[in-house]
Amino acid sequence: MQIKNKPPKALNINSIRQDFPILSQRIDNLPLVYLDNAATTQKPITVIERITEYLSYQNSTVRRGAYALSEKSTSFFNEARQKVAKFINAKQSEEIIFTKGCTEAINLVASSYGYSNFQPNDEIIITAMEHHANIVPWQLICEKTQAKLKIAPINELGELNLLELEKLINPRTRFLSLCHISNVLGTINPIKKIIELGHKHKIPVLIDGSQAAPHELIDVQDLGCDFYAFSGHKVYATTGVGVLYGKLSHLEQMPPYQAGGDMIERVTFEKTTYAAPPSKFEAGTPPIMEVIALGAALDYITNLGLENIKAYEHDLLKYAEEQIQDLIPEARIIGRAKEKASLISFVIDSIHPHDIGTILDQEFNISVRVGHHCAQPLMNLLKVPATARASFAFYNTEEEIDILIKGLKRVIEIFKY
Ligand code: PMP
Repeated sequence: MQIKNKPPKALNINSIRQDFPILSQRIDNLPLVYLDNAATTQKPITVIERITEYLSYQNSTVRRGAYALSEKSTSFFNEARQKVAKFINAKQSEEIIFTKGCTEAINLVASSYGYSNFQPNDEIIITAMEHHANIVPWQLICEKTQAKLKIAPINELGELNLLELEKLINPRTRFLSLCHISNVLGTINPIKKIIELGHKHKIPVLIDGSQAAPHELIDVQDLGCDFYAFSGHKVYATTGVGVLYGKLSHLEQMPPYQAGGDMIERVTFEKTTYAAPPSKFEAGTPPIMEVIALGAALDYITNLGLENIKAYEHDLLKYAEEQIQDLIPEARIIGRAKEKASLISFVIDSIHPHDIGTILDQEFNISVRVGHHCAQPLMNLLKVPATARASFAFYNTEEEIDILIKGLKRVIEIFKY
């Protein structure tokens, strides 16, 4: 088990900011205020340098070359898999599959596990706060297998109703898939409890950890989840790589998701046998540079300490919520869960979120996300077409939140609220 609940240490934010070259640039003489970290995070210099070093001096394929360069590349690649396993405390690195992102990781499970296990009228439970990446893959597999999708409801604070969730479980329930943290509401779900609930009924549980991996200390053995998925680009690495953790007992039973080189044991025209996990699920040349850079990114955040990151971001969230509530009474914050990660979705009546985003960008160089956040069913439930969302990372500061408040005041002034 990972060591938990160490008292948080104060982070030196000024020095951390120096590690992120993008943050020091000015556009039209204004500093960049980057508040779209839930969409993608910026990259520390250690990650950038690792990529440069790899491409300059180490680039070669993995697993195949009988020459020193390729052997070196393979050993960096394998080392990165071990770093990922350690980061989420997986029992062994064979339980870590590299995908091209969290979306592909969920698709892999839905199609491989789903296709071989779901029967007509079986039921799969997801929640009302899911990203499209954790809805549509299940809809597709339901279409193919005639299984049915059930939706666990949320309350007015944006929290899951666990009693209602339990009521959905019945002898036909075959799978439960939910987010650790909502990308719209910021709600941190009590996933350990929910995983226990699933297992009480012998239901495997997948956790979409896209929004949690950058903020929470994750221990898949302690959680007991069957699958855990996240994306590299949200944990300060690049796009093009994601992680699927799966319990080895599941991975061994599951059929391949894609086929090609590297995932086989032996191929003849008559019959092919497959490699053991993780190779069975990694057809083709993998994203080698991206995987190695992911290892460097995990080193960077592990070095800062997830407890320290969480404590700092929690303070930022509180500050931002107070400032918005006190100084922008026209704004309505969407998502008031007691356990919340560092993001704020909000709407301002009669001002479209796209207008908010455009003015913040053009006049203040503030990047926020506006739109439905790939969660249209949740938007329908909340009865809003879109929201603006400010999401914070450990390199953000209270001064940047003050600039956001200034920007929002200007938005309201322009629209003569
Ligand atoms: N789930 C959640 C909760 C997300 O926020 C995202 C990314 N916005 C995804 C899944 C999909 O991640 P990716 O696009 O990196 O595959």
